[in-house]
Amino acid sequence: MMNDRIAQRCICCNSTRLDKSPAVLMPFVASRVFGHEPVEITAEWGLRDLRPGMAYTLCNSLQCQECGVLFLDYRFCEREMQQLYQGYRNVEYTRDRERFEPGYNQANQHYQGRADYLRDVEAWLVPRIVANPAVLDWGGDSGINTPLLERSRLTHVYDISAVEPVAGVVAVSLEELREHRYDLVVCSQVLEHVPDPLALLEQLAPCLGDDTLLYLEVPREALMRQHSDSHKLAGLKRHWHEHINFFTEQSLRALVARAGLQVQDSMVLDIDLGWRKSCVFGLTAKRARA
Ligand SMILES: [Zn+2]
Repeated sequence: MMNDRIAQRCICCNSTRLDKSPAVLMPFVASRVFGHEPVEITAEWGLRDLRPGMAYTLCNSLQCQECGVLFLDYRFCEREMQQLYQGYRNVEYTRDRERFEPGYNQANQHYQGRADYLRDVEAWLVPRIVANPAVLDWGGDSGINTPLLERSRLTHVYDISAVEPVAGVVAVSLEELREHRYDLVVCSQVLEHVPDPLALLEQLAPCLGDDTLLYLEVPREALMRQHSDSHKLAGLKRHWHEHINFFTEQSLRALVARAGLQVQDSMVLDIDLGWRKSCVFGLTAKRARA
């Protein structure tokens, strides 16, 4: 378990070879997590050694020089994660975020409804799993974007946001999900948000049976696409928001191996969202045989 408030090691491969560069934590995240508000330092403060100007929550961008993962140095605790994601994208959350990011509500309309690219994910997954599977979506919000939603005999979602599940989806607790056997466990667009991705995979691994397929999906962030294989990205990443981990393929594979899982297949999927182009990296894994 990673206990350091400020990461001292790579979150994927555990290396201590980290490149570092200053950045800011975006005010919405700093407000929800730390209760910080941006503040203007003025002459009235009477501080001899500080220059007047806006002060924001400082942080560092770290990049592992072994596996290339780029990440925020702050590692939030469980309570801070709860504060950040409570009621994700509901009315109160949106109002709070709109305060720091005018226009967020408008932009957020793009996230209503089921994402179109899931058809491509499903087409890739279907030949790899049994028909009519039992599916668990780990961190799947309401289940709106759970793959194979209407083609599964059962869809469970485990999520900290406590959002109401959509029709056909059952929200389960950690205790409840441990009592089930799933054919497919999905953890999509989650690892880029969490402070300790290894701990998450280690928590998830015991829920996998011998034949359970795990599907992991993370964004291939624009910065990583534009500079693939570069280990000099810390100085190019000047702000951090919800996504606190920018993975490379190598880093994700290192992480999966450390969690005792074996990669089966992987894919890169370009996505045209209409309003912007995007890209994801997906892989399937199983529990490594002892
Ligand atoms: Zn690493």
